[in-house]
Amino acid sequence: MTTLLYTHTACLEHDPGTHHPESAARLRAVLAALSGAEFETLERREAPEAAIDDLLRVHPRAHIERILAAVPRAGHVAIDADTVLSPNSGRAALHAAGAVIAAVDAVVAREAGNAFCAVRPPGHHAEPDRAMGFCLFNNAAIGALRARDAHGLRRVAVVDFDVHHGNGTQAAFETDDSLFYASTHQYPLYPGTGAASEIGVGNIVNVPLRPMSGSEPFRRAISERILPALDDFRPELILISAGFDAHRDDPLAQLTLSEADYIWITERLVESAHRHAEGRLVSTLEGGYDLTALGASAAAHVRVLMDA
Ligand SMILES: [Zn+2]
Repeated sequence: MTTLLYTHTACLEHDPGTHHPESAARLRAVLAALSGAEFETLERREAPEAAIDDLLRVHPRAHIERILAAVPRAGHVAIDADTVLSPNSGRAALHAAGAVIAAVDAVVAREAGNAFCAVRPPGHHAEPDRAMGFCLFNNAAIGALRARDAHGLRRVAVVDFDVHHGNGTQAAFETDDSLFYASTHQYPLYPGTGAASEIGVGNIVNVPLRPMSGSEPFRRAISERILPALDDFRPELILISAGFDAHRDDPLAQLTLSEADYIWITERLVESAHRHAEGRLVSTLEGGYDLTALGASAAAHVRVLMDA
């Protein structure tokens, strides 16, 4: 079946400042890596803006209004030390969430087997009532709740292999056993959450990994902890928080993975989606700050989705 690629030019126009690692160049690197002949069969779709009603499944209205009202007419406004708004940040964030919503709709409607959302700002640090860590709205969580509440899916999982813990997704899911969140992440590292003891209502699986631990502990964490828990949960849809900042070349962390690890984890999640979810899988870009590694890793990830 087809793989969809969702993106929008608005996502290039969110500008957190000249020296900020979460730059538009990241998305350009991903799109350039997905522009070769081998990606011709990707079906490219423009990401719509998310409706506020879709955001409301995760974020309180007052919080959404506060973020959108904070968007400056010119210059920059910092929400915290590393989360910065520019004039087009609100639009970018709405299109980023809208990409995941549209991808969920299309995959549930069987228009495609799976989808990748090449978007920014990323989402997994955005808690229901707090934007942080480069993230404004929680794209993956918004997509998961769209699948459950608009399409009636009974169990929806998010698997997060970004090098940072997705504190926002965990916060949105941790009291709701129809949702499942699993994460591998470097620990200790920003944002400081993600200890193995954080299990929600039995629906959260955190596997913290030591700096420099590399491929083998990562693969063991997935094989021995996360995949069995995913099997027990039996998701009807799998979303992936696909951050590529655990790559050995990434400047923000030290988990020393390679493209081969991203191929491997994507293959395992595709298998899991086929086992439980009729193959339904929606992946969305989170982190990844070395432009070359990011492009190569995202391309490796999407290649596996196209073979699914
Ligand atoms: Zn990250």
